[in-house]
Amino acid sequence: MSAAQPETKDPRKAILTDVTKCIGCERCVEGCVRQNKLPTEISTRYRAADGLSGRRYTSIVRIPGKKKGTWSNVRRQCMHCLEPSCAAACLVGAFTKTPDGAVVYDDAKCIGCRYCMLACPFMIPRYEYDQKLPYVRKCKMNKECRVEGGLPACVAACPTQATVFGPREQLLKEARRRIAEKPDLYVNHIYGEHEFGGTSVIYIGDVPLYETLRVPTGEQFDRMRVSQLREESIPHLLHSWVLVTPFQFLTVSTGLAGLWFLRRRQKLMAERKAPPQGGPDPGTEG
Ligand code: SF4
Ligand code: SF4
Ligand code: SF4
Repeated sequence: MSAAQPETKDPRKAILTDVTKCIGCERCVEGCVRQNKLPTEISTRYRAADGLSGRRYTSIVRIPGKKKGTWSNVRRQCMHCLEPSCAAACLVGAFTKTPDGAVVYDDAKCIGCRYCMLACPFMIPRYEYDQKLPYVRKCKMNKECRVEGGLPACVAACPTQATVFGPREQLLKEARRRIAEKPDLYVNHIYGEHEFGGTSVIYIGDVPLYETLRVPTGEQFDRMRVSQLREESIPHLLHSWVLVTPFQFLTVSTGLAGLWFLRRRQKLMAERKAPPQGGPDPGTEG
């Protein structure tokens, strides 16, 4: 699967990561570091359990595998939501969803309020706390990432095609095909197909990935009384609740989002203090 494949009606590109094919070599991380000229050595002052940081836009998290005593490797990165909460929460429009699927960040616009970090349901954006002039950082998936062949550097570096790039519609079909072909191997779920309105980074695997990817289960959505978020984005839900004036929209959305974001903030703060999950530490400055 590559960018050279024929276009579908939907121009949005996506990344499909198949956890069953990942060997945990971290070449995707190295490819990203090279392409984005990130430091290879980073301090561990602000550790995050998932390895993402202001200097790591993708990471590999090890989780218990399907068989006892084995491990699975899960690549973490921005999910590039179809309707991103980070963009909706940003007061100055520093985040944009581009037509090709990437959610991009413009540091020239950013005022450092970090509402995007609170708004992201997947807890992705990180802050450069150790920099004198800090910015928010996350996976780009835009043209800056592309190497020869039109693939993002992380995808091009993967030796097993555990992570592939292409039109979102095609990748969804491919994910469905793999699950249907090996129902005993795969968990029957495509993470990111629908949750929070769908994402441009999707996953399949042989073990449940909800916790690792921060994707709530259907029951968790129901328990939080936001069942709509099983298929709707946060910005869409807030908008449909408040079909009134812009001022009322802003007031109510800030309040509702605040409840959701507060829970996320507490978890994020707890994570910064926590040691990383098992496996080699790829460098985890938060
Ligand atoms: S995963 Fe978070 S940071 Fe990435 S696009 Fe979605 S809301 Fe924004
Ligand atoms: S898409 Fe770009 S920024 Fe994101 S992990 Fe791959 S190389 Fe890094
Ligand atoms: S390069 Fe591929 S196989 Fe290696 S850790 Fe990354 S996704 Fe997994």
